Amino acid sequence: MGRAFAYVILGGGVAAGYAALEFTKRGVSQGELCIISEEPVAPYERPALSKGFLLPEARARLPSFHTCVGDNEERLTPKWYMEHGIELVLGTRVKSADVRRKTLLTATGETISYKILLVATGARALKLEEFGVTGSDAENVCYLRDLGDANRIFDAMQSCPGGNAIVIGGGYIGMECAASLVINKINVTMVFPEAHCMARLFTPKIASYYEDYYKSKGVTFIKGTVLSSFDIDSDGKVTAVNLRDGSLLPADMVVVGIGIRPNTGLFEGQLTLEKGGIKVNGKLQSSNSSIYAIGDVAAFPVKLFGESRRLEHVDSARRSARHAVAAIMEPEKTGEFDYLPFFYSRVFTMSWQFYGDNIGEVVHYGDFSGNTIGAYWVSKGYLVGSFLEGGTKEEYEAIAKTTRLKPAIEDLGELERQGLGFALTV
Ligand code: FAD
Ligand code: NDP
Repeated sequence: MGRAFAYVILGGGVAAGYAALEFTKRGVSQGELCIISEEPVAPYERPALSKGFLLPEARARLPSFHTCVGDNEERLTPKWYMEHGIELVLGTRVKSADVRRKTLLTATGETISYKILLVATGARALKLEEFGVTGSDAENVCYLRDLGDANRIFDAMQSCPGGNAIVIGGGYIGMECAASLVINKINVTMVFPEAHCMARLFTPKIASYYEDYYKSKGVTFIKGTVLSSFDIDSDGKVTAVNLRDGSLLPADMVVVGIGIRPNTGLFEGQLTLEKGGIKVNGKLQSSNSSIYAIGDVAAFPVKLFGESRRLEHVDSARRSARHAVAAIMEPEKTGEFDYLPFFYSRVFTMSWQFYGDNIGEVVHYGDFSGNTIGAYWVSKGYLVGSFLEGGTKEEYEAIAKTTRLKPAIEDLGELERQGLGFALTV
């Protein structure tokens, strides 16, 4: 026995919440839409988990950050879903999918069938075990993907005031959690294999600007090496971290952020995959015309760059969700998804935005000992990427607009001289 819906959203994260809102805006009827999520709570703004959620005071807690407050839209509480006749199946993992029969089988044994499926399963955090290190299950080793993880970090911080945290990984999770730990007066050492933080996006010059700031807040950086093992006491708690370079670091808690893998497992062998995600077209439609994929799990064509990308960021989740629903509900009126990649972060009192692509030659501008810095990336004579720290709303809008226009750049020196002024006058 089971239930049948016109539309099913598989996954209950950011993309699911924004898709639900868009469905209601486009007139979905009561009882037509169902969301199935492994998480026990209604969709929420995941970025809050490494920022407001970890603050020592005035910390963010649900229901305050349910989607879609992150984009200044309505806050969709469980009551909202009920009032809109949307079935919210929470705390329920889908364990298999049959795309031919158009059914999903849940871990509770229920079969849920759909006419149209939106796959919004996001991603899972990579585990240290996948790099040959054991000990991830120790009580004071924390990952960060969902609310349960965030509570665990919070409890670990509370249990070691003034203690030592080792942060493994120099990417987004590492940088944002390190800042939150410092704000909670925990001593932080960051360990990562690359020569500088945020290696996939930042240039060495930008990275050193942030690293200097973190150092001024007491953070120690150990680069070019990785964790080799944990020392674990008889209570099952990590007491120290051994690095491959031979050093031993005492630890009261460990936070690990070493990347993610998209949750595609249910569809392997059933849908075409690309770049580790589910391949979709400009309507976010997969190789099966009844199935759409949105958010972290989708590899979609990025028009500006003429190739497909999988983007692991919240703006992409929100916009791909809206576009997929538009394409489902009003196919004739909906064109191809035309997305400009947008990433951002907020740490301490700092805040940056990046638009486009970080390929080609880089031109830096601004005062690297001050509060506002920026960079442009120029590839094959065109501006393709823009970064700005400490900008105003208007300045961020200007770099976004400029990057979308992809202007020809003849003189890199002149671009450097004009700096932010270039974006403001394009
Ligand atoms: P998710 O939000 O991960 O949702 C996936 C959902 O699918 C989850 O509810 C999961 O439980 C469910 N699911 C998966 N498999 C199954 C299954 N088999 N059965 C049932 N349910 C299933 N991006 C930014 O741009 N800026 C930020 O500042 C930022 N901060 C972040 C901070 C943190 C701590 C994290 C973890 C991510 C952050 N991101 C940020 C990234 C952003 O949150 C993601 O890109 C976004 O959440 C992707 O949305 P999604 O809906 O695709 O996936
Ligand atoms: P990232 O991919 O940003 O960073 C992972 C980092 O860990 C990289 O520096 C990586 O190096 C390094 N690493 C890989 N293996 C090891 C290892 N064995 N030991 C130590 N370091 C290692 O992933 P995160 O985990 O930081 O973030 C997870 C997800 O959450 C991402 O999708 C991210 O976009 C999202 N997120 C986004 C935020 C934002 O947009 N502001 C904030 C928080 C999370 P290498 O590059 O060499 O692989």
